[in-house]
Amino acid sequence: MNSTWNQSVRNSIKTADEANRKLHAECFSEGRFPIKIPLEFADKIEVGNPLDPLLLQVLPSTSQAQEGFSDSPLEDEKYSPMRGVVHKYPSRVLLIASQVCAIHCQYCFRQNFNYEEHDILANWRQIGQYLQANTGVNEVILSGGDPLTLSDGKIEKIVKSVEGVEHIKTLRIHSRTAVVIPNRITEQLSEILIKTRLKVVMVFHINHPREISADFIDQVKKLQFLTLLNQSVLLKGVNDNANVLGALSHKLFASSIMPYYLHLLDRVSGAEHFLISDTKAKEIYRELQNNLSGYLLPKLVRDEGGESKSLVHPL
Ligand code: SF4
Repeated sequence: MNSTWNQSVRNSIKTADEANRKLHAECFSEGRFPIKIPLEFADKIEVGNPLDPLLLQVLPSTSQAQEGFSDSPLEDEKYSPMRGVVHKYPSRVLLIASQVCAIHCQYCFRQNFNYEEHDILANWRQIGQYLQANTGVNEVILSGGDPLTLSDGKIEKIVKSVEGVEHIKTLRIHSRTAVVIPNRITEQLSEILIKTRLKVVMVFHINHPREISADFIDQVKKLQFLTLLNQSVLLKGVNDNANVLGALSHKLFASSIMPYYLHLLDRVSGAEHFLISDTKAKEIYRELQNNLSGYLLPKLVRDEGGESKSLVHPL
């Protein structure tokens, strides 16, 4: 086990040869989106199972190009008034807080995003002025990359700057790092988030119940004073099954994390093999609705034109 979270990030598997060797597999080859798998995540992959749902998420694409798939399906660039800022909705602003992720998910819609042009720390003065000037904004979302790949010191700096903008009430943090490297949830991080006057919402990204380790369950207790939510992506071969999604909701709830969104795949080139038809998605969702209490049911949504649109209306 790695001793600190940044050592874990550094020691991740980063080449196809290393992945094949460490996972006793032959299926990895270099693809468009470079391989990055933390050892903590690799340890949960079932050796010898080419269909393991955790393996499939990090296995470079074998997809054939398909119509309707593109490099930037959500057109983030179109909604970027300045480097590091995506402003799609009137009341909330998304900041590209980090250019780095702890894991490379091969279905990621931002895999082709030009992060170097969107480094908020290099552009913080103008961003601060933008937030001050936009008095209709009440929520800042830290996304990336993954904001929790930043040091606690940098996170504290960002939190303090956002705090200084009086009309901002909520800070939302989107992270997959905390799940794939649970020791990222440090005491210092939890103190920073408890001290702030902002209402903090942590949105994890977990797709399969096996991603939730005993270690994560233990570490996440440090964040119990925040609002904890989860979003998943509906992925063929990974979680396209009401039993798997139901088990995920129960496991999240047991850790005081509420299922929030179940996203349909964003059609990014290279992720074609993860696509599920709308008909199949609705079928799975209806079964999930029948199996789960309402509060355990994530909303099935598609990101479209800058909004998450619900695909199925509540019964
Ligand atoms: S952690 Fe999030 S941003 Fe990073 S590769 Fe995975 S889905 Fe994309």
